[in-house]
Amino acid sequence: MSKLQDISTLYLGAPDVARIVARKGLSACLAGVAARIGQDFLRWPAFDKSARVASHSKDGVIELMPVADDALYAFKYVNGHPKNPIAGLPTVMAFGVLAEVATGAPLLLAELTLATAIRTAAMSAVAARALARPDSRTMALIGNGAQSEFQALAFRDLLGITTLRLFDTDARATDKLMRNLHGQGLALLPCASAADAVRGADIVTTITADKTLATILTPDMIEPGMHLNAVGGDCPGKTELHPEVLRRAAVFVEYAPQTRIEGDLQQMPADFPVTELWRVLSGQRPGRADAAQVTVFDSVGFALEDYSALCFLRDAAEEFGIGERLQLVPQMADPKNLFGVLGRSADGSACTERLQRA
Ligand code: NAD
Repeated sequence: MSKLQDISTLYLGAPDVARIVARKGLSACLAGVAARIGQDFLRWPAFDKSARVASHSKDGVIELMPVADDALYAFKYVNGHPKNPIAGLPTVMAFGVLAEVATGAPLLLAELTLATAIRTAAMSAVAARALARPDSRTMALIGNGAQSEFQALAFRDLLGITTLRLFDTDARATDKLMRNLHGQGLALLPCASAADAVRGADIVTTITADKTLATILTPDMIEPGMHLNAVGGDCPGKTELHPEVLRRAAVFVEYAPQTRIEGDLQQMPADFPVTELWRVLSGQRPGRADAAQVTVFDSVGFALEDYSALCFLRDAAEEFGIGERLQLVPQMADPKNLFGVLGRSADGSACTERLQRA
């Protein structure tokens, strides 16, 4: 019989992650997750990668996103249901797990709804730092829902954006963004249409939610030198860019096998040329060719970004002593005696009680 191993799991709920953000500051979290994503993308070949597994239904999608290196396995559960806000629910909700590869023991179970907004904004900023013109100061932000403030602040902090041109089909979403970002050092200009918002912008972020083949950006709106951060087209049947916009641009992606199915790229032939961003970050491929080129980051969200976010949360939780230990899997002195866990009482109730107390 071996000695009792501690295989408790650190649990971080939504209030815990909000507490981490409050302790560190949102700017430090955006910068920290961006740095972590940058480091992990440089280790790209070390990861076991696959396109996420998606379960589609009439109004949405539920996805599982796994990735692993030699030490850690991570997955995220995430949904995308654009009509959810009508029912008072967020469009995107998520949680994730970090586990030890050597044993399979679950180390961390964490909320990832808030963390997804942070990691998506950090990822957008990492891509834009590599692809946008360095003198970019104005960003159009189309789609002013749950993700939008995080994008705005990441681009302020990590790119030097000073002016936001805002548009959402729901004017209340733009009002909400303007209230939330009041006094944050950004000039906020509400616009009458997507075309109006895009006019004169250096960077255009589209982060809309609609389960349809939408064309938020058409070729006539695109000006030389723009960088397009296309975040909302992230699932089959859900796009934001006119195909001609992609044809006239240099297109960069996270993980090509996934983006070809889910991104705006789904509209293009299977051999349409794209560059995986890690190759630009590692210096293997050029990013922007010149100041007049139009670049597109066709973002869909890749599991490695969630691995980075989970590692960031684990380290921050340790630093501040936030979170609680859960006994998610049974602890047994004899690991072959799973039945013995029930044996503590005739009907198993003591076991249940013990698991709840742990
Ligand atoms: P949300 O529902 O809170 O906000 C979306 C906003 O888009 C809403 O305010 C809606 O009114 C607006 N909108 C819809 N159609 C529009 C149009 N044609 N023009 C302008 N505005 C329009 O959703 P959210 O949580 O902010 O997510 C936004 C999108 O980003 C979703 O599609 C989501 O799937 C996607 N997303 C992508 C990633 C990624 O990594 N690429 C990560 C998270 C979320």
